[in-house]
Amino acid sequence: MHYEWQVHIVLASCLFVLGAVVGSFLNVCIYRMPLQKSILWPDSRCPNCFGRIRAIENVPIFSWLVLRAACHECRLKISARYPTIEAITGLLFVVVYFADAYFGMAHPHPDVAVYAGVLYHCVFVAVLLAVSMIDYDWTIVPLGLTNFGLLFGIMCGTLNPAMRPAPAFSTTALGGLGVGLLGAAVGAGMVWVVRIIGALVFRREAMGRGDVDILAVIGAFMGWQAAVLSFFLSAFFGLIPSLVKLVPYLLKRLQGREWNPSDREIPLGPFLSMGAVFLLLTWHWSWRVLFSQYFGLFTMLFSPLPD
Ligand SMILES: [Zn+2]
Repeated sequence: MHYEWQVHIVLASCLFVLGAVVGSFLNVCIYRMPLQKSILWPDSRCPNCFGRIRAIENVPIFSWLVLRAACHECRLKISARYPTIEAITGLLFVVVYFADAYFGMAHPHPDVAVYAGVLYHCVFVAVLLAVSMIDYDWTIVPLGLTNFGLLFGIMCGTLNPAMRPAPAFSTTALGGLGVGLLGAAVGAGMVWVVRIIGALVFRREAMGRGDVDILAVIGAFMGWQAAVLSFFLSAFFGLIPSLVKLVPYLLKRLQGREWNPSDREIPLGPFLSMGAVFLLLTWHWSWRVLFSQYFGLFTMLFSPLPD
């Protein structure tokens, strides 16, 4: 966008604040959804003394610092994770803004559509962050969260079919709906194929049911190409964490020591999400320079014949 830098700073600061508030809500989701509790009711209370958390104590990041990481009634320690999630969400919103603003310069008339795109991407990263944290904690993915992402991605991509990154954009609402549905189907279908192969060949669950939903969300938001790429990038982002987890497991097996199935279970959600966020932030460069060449065959098959 052709703005003075001051405008960028103001808008980015607003998005950081918005992100911190959204992060505060994500904390509620991350804490309550795996326990099947309502995310809307009741209001937040201290888990120890059940003291109501007053509005002034509920300001993202700031309150945690002022309260010096403890409940003001009973001094129960409040985990640093809460303000960290709030700060990460705020920073992600800022990074999304600058990525969109930078690449949005190609846009001839920066307008409502560009802002709508920024918010669309902010919702996307917020859903992925909450899903990743819950998957990391519990190795489960709450359907409520992924269903919301799926509907939001398909709906916004239908209302504004130019919102998804090329080549997943469309010019008509029907086309946008098609791109979203195809993206979700390819994302989910890919994981199902891996699950079926895993069950037949290795006789164990190769990928979780939750991974189906995560890749469906990625496909709905960014198109099927991004779902396929996130799938492969997750192996890259997950390589080192997997080794850290699997080496002790293999040593246990080699030494004949006791092990349990959780020793070899690695939640894939965080790495699928990292792949998707990487693509989201770099798409205009990474698609053109790195990835589009691998999709040449599909483009040839699906594009109209040259004249
Ligand atoms: Zn308390």
